[in-house]
Amino acid sequence: MLWILISLFFLWCAYREVSASIVAPAGFDSTRPIYKPYLAIVLVLAALFAWPTVHRWHFEGFLSRAATELADNHPAKVHCNTVFDTMLDPAMLAAGHANPETGHIGIQHPWCDRLMSYLSHPERASRDEIMSLAIFTHESMHVRGEYSEALAECEAVQRNYRAAKLLGVPDNVARRNAWEYYNALYKLRGTVGGMQTAYYSDQCAPGNALDEHLSDSTWGD
Ligand SMILES: [Zn+2]
Repeated sequence: MLWILISLFFLWCAYREVSASIVAPAGFDSTRPIYKPYLAIVLVLAALFAWPTVHRWHFEGFLSRAATELADNHPAKVHCNTVFDTMLDPAMLAAGHANPETGHIGIQHPWCDRLMSYLSHPERASRDEIMSLAIFTHESMHVRGEYSEALAECEAVQRNYRAAKLLGVPDNVARRNAWEYYNALYKLRGTVGGMQTAYYSDQCAPGNALDEHLSDSTWGD
């Protein structure tokens, strides 16, 4: 928000420069010509300060469309929290949160950035980047109507492959990343205990009770 205000300030400077060339500014008898280098500089500064926010809005729109599809067309609205948003968020310690009633998904800083870097090089994804995909899918499951953490997480495990493909990851890489999440990170939740057990079920495995037998399941053939 601050960046956008700074950008608007530079846009206002540009506007003032152009309008002074059309209408005489207050206190002057005549118009004055545009000083082009000044106009160019303020316009470049306006664009530079607007870019991070515009880029984030664009990414949020892209994630919202994919989340809506993952949520079986329950409308999802993804918001990528900035550092400032995260500090003010009551659920600051959770990497993400979602409201099944409103469809609002909040992803904390820096998980959206991690998801963005994952999508720029999915073939060499780090564990954190794979985790960012799983957080996105997990929150989409809440928008789909799932309140239970363990069930949302298991539904996400089975849909991470679909989610990665919806976000543009090539098929074989999407399958590998989704499988790695299930096989390494998800299974680890069952062994570390504590808070992690709320997100884990030993029934979340191929052929077990929570297997939804999706045609494009992460663990399908
Ligand atoms: Zn959750």
